[in-house]
Amino acid sequence: MSNLLYFDNNATTAPAPEVLDALWPYFTRHYGNPSSLHSAGEDAAQAVAAARAALARLVGAGSPARLCFTSGATESNVTALRSALRAQPARRRVLASAVEHPAVLEPLAAAEADGFELVRIRVDRDGRLDLDQVRAELDERTALLSVMAVNNETGVVHDLAPIVTAARAAGALVHVDAVQACGKLTFSCEQSGADFVAFSAHKLHGPKGVGALYVRRGIELEPLLRGGPQESERRGGTENVPGIVGFGKAAALAREWLEQGGPERLAKLRDRLEHELVRTVAGTHVHGRGAPRVCNTSNLRFEGISGEALVALASDEGLCVSTGAACSASRHRPSHVLLAMGLSPAEASSSVRLSLSRYTTDGEVDRALEILSGAVRRLRALLGAVPAPR
Ligand code: PLP
Repeated sequence: MSNLLYFDNNATTAPAPEVLDALWPYFTRHYGNPSSLHSAGEDAAQAVAAARAALARLVGAGSPARLCFTSGATESNVTALRSALRAQPARRRVLASAVEHPAVLEPLAAAEADGFELVRIRVDRDGRLDLDQVRAELDERTALLSVMAVNNETGVVHDLAPIVTAARAAGALVHVDAVQACGKLTFSCEQSGADFVAFSAHKLHGPKGVGALYVRRGIELEPLLRGGPQESERRGGTENVPGIVGFGKAAALAREWLEQGGPERLAKLRDRLEHELVRTVAGTHVHGRGAPRVCNTSNLRFEGISGEALVALASDEGLCVSTGAACSASRHRPSHVLLAMGLSPAEASSSVRLSLSRYTTDGEVDRALEILSGAVRRLRALLGAVPAPR
């Protein structure tokens, strides 16, 4: 793994060494159950409380009590959507952006099959939400507005404030999937005005299999997993203590990085990668270029090639990139996000996503540039594809 050029950090990140150091003792020495009344249990409970406080500071949760640990963002999203749809049974309409992650779109498609009306909010060519459509569709029938903070494929940052205000005015609940924002830009649950916000540890150098759900004060959470009284009766089951401790450490590290100007430095590295590819490889296009984007993500189209072939060729040379969300990539379909942005299926299929991390170096960007430009040239030579003149 250490020799890999890993540019797929929106799929998952390498756990930070400090995270591994922090969580390991919770497998070896402090393996108590947080619900136990003896000292081993107390140790574990204190560690979970400390992690909750660290995450609350990173995400502006107000109080740690507003956060419920889960198995990941998929569970957080599903729990939030289920709770929101049951909260006001007379309201049967849901608004969600067309570019949400499958962890939101699939449960909402199931709700649609159960009789909810699902309104998909359009995005423009740069991936920006159609705010007018949101305002026009919100009404007294609307149970929920679900919008991600940052798109996982393009890195486009959504303008949440005006639509959250409009949704609340219409009496609808608001769910935000903040998985790709967390640890990459300053995000505050309280300031966002959302009722539910989902997070996942493995996207910010924490361990896999642990996430969190913010629930606004006064909002009822309908547990997905009923069982013991863990997580203040919001999620049954013995806590994943090592995972939660790792999440807490990852949150503390991310907070330091944000405070020390990490995003600005990373955006410069990402911009250099993009500029060089556009300059040296004819027929390269940057998706979402006209919109605000998170610091680490670049989604590019190389005319005349197959994104999947490029991913395979790059991988042979040790460079990991992707054609979009890891779960959609394995389905071999053009990205629903790029299609929603108005690209044709062929254009969407010639696109790849590069996602950097705070550990990405200048040298790695140089090497990625070499590999990508060489691979695009070879693929075009094989297919006889010539990019359109600029
Ligand atoms: N939401 C977004 C925007 C994501 O990028 C992901 C991960 O790919 C998820 C949700 C699902 O997260 P998890 O793997 O923790 O279930």
